[in-house]
Amino acid sequence: MTRHDIAIVGGGIMGCYAAMLLAEAGMRVAVMEKSTLCGGASGVNAGSHSMQNKRPQLLPYALEAQELWTRMSARLGYDMGYRRSGGLIVALTEQEAAGLEEKTLARRAMGVDAEMIAGDRARAIEPLLSQYILAASYGKTDGYSDSLRTGRAFTGKLRQLGVSLYEHCGVERIAPARDGFVIAGAGETFYAGRILLAAGAWLKELLLMLGSDLPVSYRLNQALVLDRIGHRLRGFIGHASGLLTLKQSHSGKLLLGGGWPAEGRAQAGESVMLSDSIIGNLRLARRILPAVGATSLLRAWSGFEADMPDFLPLVGAVPGVKNAFVIGCIGGGYTLGPVMAQRLCQQILERGPADAAFDPARFLPAGVRPVMASPPVAPERSVLSGNACASSPPRPALT
Ligand SMILES: Cc1cc2nc3c(=O)[nH]c(=O)nc-3n(C[C@H](O)[C@H](O)[C@H](O)COP(=O)(O)OP(=O)(O)OC[C@H]3O[C@@H](n4cnc5c(N)ncnc54)[C@H](O)[C@@H]3O)c2cc1C
Repeated sequence: MTRHDIAIVGGGIMGCYAAMLLAEAGMRVAVMEKSTLCGGASGVNAGSHSMQNKRPQLLPYALEAQELWTRMSARLGYDMGYRRSGGLIVALTEQEAAGLEEKTLARRAMGVDAEMIAGDRARAIEPLLSQYILAASYGKTDGYSDSLRTGRAFTGKLRQLGVSLYEHCGVERIAPARDGFVIAGAGETFYAGRILLAAGAWLKELLLMLGSDLPVSYRLNQALVLDRIGHRLRGFIGHASGLLTLKQSHSGKLLLGGGWPAEGRAQAGESVMLSDSIIGNLRLARRILPAVGATSLLRAWSGFEADMPDFLPLVGAVPGVKNAFVIGCIGGGYTLGPVMAQRLCQQILERGPADAAFDPARFLPAGVRPVMASPPVAPERSVLSGNACASSPPRPALT
């Protein structure tokens, strides 16, 4: 049986970025993904990289992420469509403007290159903005990329690095074995010295397989694509409430996000779009950018996102389980995921400490030690011989 140094369960941006770093550090890495690489939130998100909508505790990481994203296409050898376009967060009321100013001043003090500007100046930067815009904060370093390219980019890079990729391979059981873990899924059995859980909205069930009951929840978040408009937007546009992000693809189509909910169940993979969310998102977008009213909705989808009760990430060792690690539940996780993965890999490689604020053990009552939930499973078959998990063809990018 082939033994990997580490098995990564979940091939979203966090699992893939960690796989890349660990393989580059010389580890034999396997990634098990129940759909295709970045087929979850990492491949369907709105692609915003804004420093103006991150929680204060996460801003130092966001600033680091901003630098990392400017090099991402070169790092992966694939154009991720990243543009540092600048971004306007707009206010429609005096109250919104006051709140935005307070946040912008606080972010400036933390190193974000953003300033408050009047509505007229915002319209000089982005002429299609409506007359309703009273003020805006302008972040010169905000940007966006095309998340639909993420899966293709990482598939190429990880293959090049010799990472074993198992797609359509949902992990069903994890059990401790001598010096590591036995992992079972899709009719296969794998063996690895260490394990990293990076399964996004599905983390709760995987943590339970290791006997760790952490309060991971999830929600469904929608994205909309509108047809081309006749003009080019200069950059990223958001609303002070956080309920709108808007950007334009190379082809002129508009991509709308903003955290509007959909409904569904992660375990069953079921989701339903909500008409109230679609209409609400479109109404707000049209008030800010009237050109939205002259185009049509082409596509709508949603994706599952994981959450923690304190809105801070889970990055670190699985409490009480030697050589098991977890990463996820990061707000703005497409932007921040790679930086968090970098930190975690330092810990896995024993080159740096974990960040205590993100330590999964913060949710355990003092003195509680988790108990392994699954009985050990016997190794059955080599991971390299006749595996049922397959690779799938790349998906098209949004252009
Ligand atoms: C609509 C939408 C818009 C968003 N917009 C933005 C944005 O503009 N900017 C930003 O920074 N962030 C945004 N986000 C958030 C961001 O996409 C996520 O935080 C990030 O992609 C999460 O990455 P992840 O790797 O933790 O999870 P995921 O990408 O969900 O990856 C987890 C993977 O684990 C796999 N998996 C689950 N269970 C198993 C199992 N048992 N065995 C094997 N594999 C398993 C899943 O199939 C999935 O591919 C948005 C999210 C959504 C849904």
